[in-house]
Amino acid sequence: MPPLSRRDLLAASAAGIASGAVGWTPQPATGDAALPEVATGEIHVASFRFDVTPPLGHGCCGNWIKPIVGYDDPLEAIGLVILGAGRPIVLCAVDWTGILNDAHVAWRGALAEAAGTSPDRVAVQVVHPHNAPMACLETARLVAGAGDLPPVLDPDFFARCLDAGRVAVRQALDRAVRVTHVGRGTARVIDVASNRRLLGPDGTVRTQRSSACADEAIRALPEGLVDPLLRTVAFYHGDEKIAACHAYACHPMSYYGDGRASADFCGLARRRRQIDEPGCTHLYFSGCGGNIAAGKYNDGSRGMRPVLAGRMYDAIVAADAAIERRPVERVSWTTAPFLPTPDARWVERDLLAALADPRQSLVARTRPMYTVAWLRRVARGEPVVLSALHLDDIVMVHLPGEPFVEYQLRLQQDHADRFVFTAGYGDGGPWYLPTTAAYPQGGYEVGVAWSGRGVEAELHDGIARLFA
Ligand SMILES: [Zn+2]
Repeated sequence: MPPLSRRDLLAASAAGIASGAVGWTPQPATGDAALPEVATGEIHVASFRFDVTPPLGHGCCGNWIKPIVGYDDPLEAIGLVILGAGRPIVLCAVDWTGILNDAHVAWRGALAEAAGTSPDRVAVQVVHPHNAPMACLETARLVAGAGDLPPVLDPDFFARCLDAGRVAVRQALDRAVRVTHVGRGTARVIDVASNRRLLGPDGTVRTQRSSACADEAIRALPEGLVDPLLRTVAFYHGDEKIAACHAYACHPMSYYGDGRASADFCGLARRRRQIDEPGCTHLYFSGCGGNIAAGKYNDGSRGMRPVLAGRMYDAIVAADAAIERRPVERVSWTTAPFLPTPDARWVERDLLAALADPRQSLVARTRPMYTVAWLRRVARGEPVVLSALHLDDIVMVHLPGEPFVEYQLRLQQDHADRFVFTAGYGDGGPWYLPTTAAYPQGGYEVGVAWSGRGVEAELHDGIARLFA
């Protein structure tokens, strides 16, 4: 398994672009879906990881919970560079709560620069644990401008993370391994995901069951709509598994708000599997879990974190055992722009007034700045990039924000002839992405969705372009 040197890969990539030998089609500036690329049969994968654990005192989850006071386990960014299908493609999963707007653009730009590709060929998702940073540079500037609020993001720490990412990607290119096969597997996750939105007889949200639920009667209510399957896509060199991506739709928190950094139960499951298989890089992606959490199965007690991690680990092991492996022939990358229309109730002037009002709570002053950052972005016309990696009949779809589980269920239904692997939690700018039907039901997620009820049609339009 001789790794190609970075110089060879970059030379091959540059030569391919110059001669058109790998069929790379420049992407239109709008980010429209490009023509599919045909791989040359020489796909390589390079894996990288770097630490993104914040310093003591750093804000968590946009400052509506306690800042970092200690560490239960580190936060990591783990990724793959895929070479040989046009310009390099980068996938990266980060143990943060969110990466939004200009911060997401900066992350993709840094990894793209190091990999020798363009930012629209980089997908960055967060796993979404809550004792972790939520990065939006514009929000950080707005909050700092208030003069009396704690910072939501340390810009020096953020810059150090991007520098670490550049180094990790560059070093990874020296270790790229040829991919001969790609595998897909699924396993049912037992007693983790449940729907957060419990409707009453009038069809509106009667109560919410979030990540942890101390009320036994609410826990006893039905699981509701979930996607019970964990999906795995793995890359092989012959018999050797070199990288495995796992996705499951559920908020990944057992408990949070104690200021102790942790990748929480999904990150812990991934790490345990990584110890089993040191030669294979394991990545975990949160699927469309906007309305999904562990509340039915989690009373929030400390002992539940390892229990939930164990259930996720069991599913990862079972999905790995079920993997069907096939030679990989065609690899392509498609993108589409997504800029949903904001809900008319969000007015920048009113939101800024909240920031300036010292009588309001920290949350009530800080959170609206994420809304302002999104409204300004929409006004500038800077779309989020939706993307999909096509590996023969496997499609790995990367969606932004916190999409409801209905989006990934619909993707599987609409493309039943393919193996659809869906990751949510890319660019967090638009926050929750409910369905149209959810708006009249009310509930927390709809209350903090920046988009209007047309968002479902807008997102389906964008997704359809990934498959065109
Ligand atoms: Zn969330």
